[in-house]
Amino acid sequence: MDFTQKAQGIMNDHGFRFCSVSKFYNGTAAVSELSFVVPTGHHTALLGPSGCGKSTILRLLAGLEMPSTGEVLLNGTVISEPNKIVLPPHRRGVAMVFQDLALWPNLSVIQNVLLALSGSGISRREARARAKEALVLCGIESLADRVPGTLSGGQQQRVALARAIAPAPAFLFLDEPFAGLDLVTKMMLLNEISELAEKGSFTILLVTHDPLEATVLCRSAVVLNQGRIEESGDLTNLFREPRSEILKLFRAHLRASASTSEQLEQLGNN
Ligand code: ADP
Repeated sequence: MDFTQKAQGIMNDHGFRFCSVSKFYNGTAAVSELSFVVPTGHHTALLGPSGCGKSTILRLLAGLEMPSTGEVLLNGTVISEPNKIVLPPHRRGVAMVFQDLALWPNLSVIQNVLLALSGSGISRREARARAKEALVLCGIESLADRVPGTLSGGQQQRVALARAIAPAPAFLFLDEPFAGLDLVTKMMLLNEISELAEKGSFTILLVTHDPLEATVLCRSAVVLNQGRIEESGDLTNLFREPRSEILKLFRAHLRASASTSEQLEQLGNN
């Protein structure tokens, strides 16, 4: 089946689809012959060790990179072809939060969020209302006039998140944004993002090498290794019989934690 037939066959698809996508840098494949789906409304994690191609996939989906071979589809329509971006990034309904957050250091929190709304065609008044609403949703309305440098790591994460959700994206791509946060802040943010996704009806694609983040936020996962898919599917099923090293290790870790809690409970009862 060629890609045109494939595209016609999935006209009713909602979400992103990779069809045999490869990306080469200087002749070396960062991702090879990848085919998978990120359906709308179904939070998905891209899991795998450093250098396995996770960020490359996000950039290909967002339209920041062109595939070397294969096609990327959105809602059944081809949006990237070999060496060609068919649908530009700003029309893909995607917002991204990166590990380094990329906040503007000289702008206040609200100005950072307003910048994401410039060029969206809405009035200044409406932009301000939307920016304020995003700050409220992220619990940082009281920080509106501060500059990022004066905020904690968790607060800066919230600013990046507010900026991402203000334009009401269909998809929120998170590229390891929790690295460097303490466990408590990380868990709080993960739960809040999950609630935000419900309210804002956007779909999350999370890039991480931490299966814990994936289990809190996502229902399914694509596990990558050296640019190829090692396993994919519903996370609960993947954990039942993991094939990849990363999920095997995580399951062993979960079992060890469960047995430690049991031992602690027994100690408490004695
Ligand atoms: P991950 O996000 O899983 O850490 P990346 O997608 O960043 O992995 O990188 C996958 C591979 O592609 C790595 O070997 C990396 O060095 C290479 N790569 C990524 N971007 C570029 C680039 N712009 N130029 C050259 N090589 C790149």
